[in-house]
Amino acid sequence: MDVFASPAFDDHEQVVFFFDRGSGLKAIVALHDTTLGPAIGGCRMWPYASEAEALTDVLRLAKGMTYKAAMTSLPFGGGKTVIIGDPRTGKSEALFRALGRAIDTLGGRYYTGEDVGTSPVDMDWANAETPYVLGRSSGSSGDPSPVTARGVWLGIRAAVRHKLGRDDLAGTRVAVQGLGHVGYHVARLLAQDGASLIVADLDPTRGERAAEEFGARLVGGDEILGVEAEVLSPCALGGVINDDTVPRLSCAIVAGAANNQLLEDRHGAALHARGILYAPDYVINAGGLINIAEELRPQGYQRERALAKVQTIAQTLTEVFERAQREGAPTNQIADRIAEERLRTGRQARAARAASEVLPARAAVG
Ligand code: NAD
Repeated sequence: MDVFASPAFDDHEQVVFFFDRGSGLKAIVALHDTTLGPAIGGCRMWPYASEAEALTDVLRLAKGMTYKAAMTSLPFGGGKTVIIGDPRTGKSEALFRALGRAIDTLGGRYYTGEDVGTSPVDMDWANAETPYVLGRSSGSSGDPSPVTARGVWLGIRAAVRHKLGRDDLAGTRVAVQGLGHVGYHVARLLAQDGASLIVADLDPTRGERAAEEFGARLVGGDEILGVEAEVLSPCALGGVINDDTVPRLSCAIVAGAANNQLLEDRHGAALHARGILYAPDYVINAGGLINIAEELRPQGYQRERALAKVQTIAQTLTEVFERAQREGAPTNQIADRIAEERLRTGRQARAARAASEVLPARAAVG
């Protein structure tokens, strides 16, 4: 299994494999880039079919966190942890305490938190061994999903303003795929705004609940991708924008919470070619990161401040949309470019700081 030669490797600063004999912990931590500050990124527990699959996932996810953090203008970098194991059967206090000790060895270069397959209680166990844990079950920022949903709702409004010239969502048809922790709240906010909703979830009770509460039209999980609507909001899984679905889309805007909505980068260009405005996922769904990062403020977590910061998602998206229009480029490429420019500026500032610290010292020695 190659690390440096892996297609998912993209100048990651550090990749660490952890094993703990007592608990059976097998984990990989990837720190992609800490130019802008310590890395933040959750811990995913998943029964990966192979170590190579786990490595690919952690490398990809860590890089995504770097870009997401850069786009929020928060002083943080990107990292991620994966635990190889089945979250239904493999969890224990010993496992997460071992994870905590592993994270502690990184000395604060990386903060972890919950993610797919892990929970705030798991983070409490890790926190017994290290302070570098966010999103514990008490005294912390709590469930990020409603805050993520708020950012997505604001992002949909910004996209509708840019693409359709409408200042509100009254009567705007929005198709929401996935009504889980985030999608349900997205649908609730859209309904409050007067949007006309079409919803789908693989879990029939979730779909029916949303249909009843929000007066939404309920359709099948796959059918939703082709329904006629102004906005398609993918809030379930990644990879929904692909060769198969792009020709079927019947919307003007794709703007949702799901991570990695584009199966490949080129599908952003495919949306652009069809004249569909895409709200880059890591920009529109950054509310959860903004919320959890608030825990690291010297004054501690304050919900109101987190919500105020989430408002900036709409401005950032508008900046991406306008630049994409000026440059005639797909929005996902523009978002990547802006994030990379911020990282480059950060690197230059760091190099200048280092030089100014070294030069006087050399002068003194000389
Ligand atoms: P969740 O598991 O609570 O909800 C996902 C929902 O989608 C479930 O109800 C599931 O039944 C449904 N679903 C799955 N496949 C479907 C399909 N093909 N058609 C219709 N419905 C389908 O997850 P969540 O926390 O709401 O997160 C949703 C997405 O947002 C994920 O991609 C996640 O990575 C991303 N995200 C979440 C957060 C957060 O704060 N929770 C932050 C950033 C990004």
